[in-house]
Amino acid sequence: MTTELSPDTPAGLVERARQDYQELAGRGLSLDLTRGKPAPEQLDLSTDLLSLPGGRYTSADGTDVRNYGGLQGLPELREIFAGLLQVPAGQLLAAGNSSLELMHDCLVHALLGVLPGAASRWADQERIAFLCPVPGYDRHFALCERFGIEMIPVPMTDEGPDMEIVERLVAEDPAVKGIWCVPKYSNPTGVSYSDATVARLAAMPTAAPDFRIFWDNAYAAHHLTDDPVEIADLLAACADAGNPDRAFVFGSTSKITAAGAGVAFFGSSPANVTWLLGHNAKRSIGPDKVNQLRHVMFLRDADGVRAHMERQRALLQPKFEAVGRILAKELGGTGLATWTTPKGGYFVTLEVPDGCAKEVVRRAAEAGIVLTPAGATHPYGDDPRDAVIRIAPSYPGLAELEQAIEGLAVCVRLVGHERQAA
Ligand code: PMP
Repeated sequence: MTTELSPDTPAGLVERARQDYQELAGRGLSLDLTRGKPAPEQLDLSTDLLSLPGGRYTSADGTDVRNYGGLQGLPELREIFAGLLQVPAGQLLAAGNSSLELMHDCLVHALLGVLPGAASRWADQERIAFLCPVPGYDRHFALCERFGIEMIPVPMTDEGPDMEIVERLVAEDPAVKGIWCVPKYSNPTGVSYSDATVARLAAMPTAAPDFRIFWDNAYAAHHLTDDPVEIADLLAACADAGNPDRAFVFGSTSKITAAGAGVAFFGSSPANVTWLLGHNAKRSIGPDKVNQLRHVMFLRDADGVRAHMERQRALLQPKFEAVGRILAKELGGTGLATWTTPKGGYFVTLEVPDGCAKEVVRRAAEAGIVLTPAGATHPYGDDPRDAVIRIAPSYPGLAELEQAIEGLAVCVRLVGHERQAA
C-alpha cells in the first residue's frame, strides 16, 4: 500500500516537485535563456537596412561616406540620437558597431593616457577600483577583471545604487576612479535611476579628481509599457554641479536595429570628447560612415526611432508578460521566489532563497534549460547570497519561452522545497 502524502506538508511538496522534475527531465528539452539577444523577428524589423544606402553615398554636407575621415561620426546621425541619449549633438560621437568596445577603449586610454583632471595615468597608480552596483552586467565586470581594476559591489535599491554607500566610498578612497551604471531599465534588475540618485551622483564629492561615471544607457529607448521612463540628464547635472568631466555616456543601436551591426555612441564634456577623439585618431582613420548613413536613412529622426521601438515592444512585451504570468501562477504564494516586473529593457531578475541559485541553474541545465550562470550578475562571479538568477526572455519564441519558464519554476520548487525540508 502506498502512503498518500498531503501535498501541503513539506514532504508532500518535495514529493510533488520531484515528480514534476522527473517529468520535465524526461521531455528532452533544449532551451536557452542565457543572453539578452534580440529574436530573429526583432532583427527582421530592420531588414530594409540591408539594402541601404542604396545608390546614395553622400551625407547631408556632401561628404562621400565611402571615404576615410569624419572621426566624430555623421552629424545627422548624432542629431537623431542626441535627445535620446541626453547629450548635445556636438558632444556626441557616433563610432563603430559596439558600445562595449567604447567602454573598453575608455578604460584603456585612462590607463595608458592622462584623463582630463587626472594627475597621472591610472596604470601608474598602485590601486584602481570601480564601484559595481549589484546585481549588474557581467561584461562590465569582465572588463574590470581584464585590466586588474578592483571591483567594489554596492547594492542596488529601486532608485539605483545605494547612494549612502556610494557617497561614502568615493569620498574616502582616492583609488575609486569610477562606477558602472545602467541608468534606465538596468541590466538585470530593470531599475531606472531616480532624479535624486542622478543629482547625487553628479554632485557628490570624490577623493579622486579624475572620477568617472560610466553611464551605459544601453536601454534608453527600450520601453515595455505605455509609460516610458524618463531619467534625469546626468551630463547636464554634472556640469551644473561643477563636475563637467564626470560623465561618460554610452549607447548603441544594438537592440534597436542590428545587434553588433548597429552604431555605438559616446557622449561627454567637450574636454572628454577631445580626449577620446585624440586617442581614436591614432586607432582609426574614421568610423564606418556607410553604416551610419544607412541608419540615418532607415530611422530618419527621433520619432522614427520611437516608432521603430514600438514595433520592437510589440514583439517583446508578450514575452515579458508570459514570464510574469507563469512565475506568478507557478511560484506565487510559495515563499520561494520574488521577481521583477520591468518597464523596459531585456531582463527579469528572479530571486530564490539564499544558497539556492546555483543549484536551480544546475538542475535546469540537467533538464535542458540553459540559464545565465548564477553569480554572473556579481563581480568575480560571486553572488554572496547565491540568490540571483537572470532571465533573458527576448530570444526564444513565445511557446519555447513558456516551456522554459514553467520548467524553471519546477526547478525552483524542487530546490527550494528540498532545502526547506532538509
Ligand atoms: N551594455 C549593456 C548594459 C548591455 O546589456 C549590452 C548588451 N547585452 C551592451 C552594453 C552591449 O552593447 P553593444 O552591442 O553596443 O556593445
